[in-house]
Amino acid sequence: MQDMPAWAAQLRDVADFPRPGIVFKDINPLLAHPQARAQALTSMVAPWQRVGIGAVLGVEARGFILGTAMAMQMALPFVPVRKPGKLPGAVVSQHYALEYGSDCIQIQADALPAGTRVLIVDDVLATGGTLAATVALARQLQLEVVGGAVLIELDGLGGRARWPVGVPLHASLVV
Ligand code: 5GP
Repeated sequence: MQDMPAWAAQLRDVADFPRPGIVFKDINPLLAHPQARAQALTSMVAPWQRVGIGAVLGVEARGFILGTAMAMQMALPFVPVRKPGKLPGAVVSQHYALEYGSDCIQIQADALPAGTRVLIVDDVLATGGTLAATVALARQLQLEVVGGAVLIELDGLGGRARWPVGVPLHASLVV
C-alpha cells in the first residue's frame, strides 16, 4: 500500500453519489487548494517528462481540467474528447457500454495528424470503460497512444485490465 501523498487529504468521499451505494471521489476541494493541486499536478506530469509526447487528450469533464494543466506544464497541445453534440465540424465517435445503458465520446476528425503520440488524461479510473473507449477513439484517428494518466485509480474495479497491454498507465493515487 502506498503512503498517502499530502495532497490526497484534499480529496473528499461523497456517499451515495451519483447513485445509492456509490462512494464518489470528489476532486473539487483539491482543485480549490493551490498548493495541494500543484503537488498533485507534479505527480501526474513526472512520469512523462522523458516520454516523447505530441499532444494531451483530456476526457470530459474533469479530464479537461487536469489534462489542460498537464499540457500547459509540458508545453503540449491539448485536445478535448467530448460527449456527443458538443464539437463543431466533422467528428469521430466511439460508443461504449456502461453498467446500465451506453455512452458515446467524440473527437474532432482533424484534431491531430495520424501518427501523433498522445497521452490520455482523466481524473479517475474506475471500471476502465471511459479510458478504453478513449483509446479506441484515438486509434480511429490513427493516433499512437503512448500513455494514460489518471489522478486516482479505484482498485478492485478491474479498470486497469481494460487498458492496452504494454502501454504505460500511471495513477498518482491508488485507493
Ligand atoms: P469508468 O469508465 O472507469 O468506470 O469511470 C471513469 C469515469 O467516470 C471518469 O471519466 C471519471 O471522471 C468518472 N468517475 C467514476 N467514478 C468517479 C469518482 O469516484 N470520482 C470522480 N471524480 N469521477 C468518477
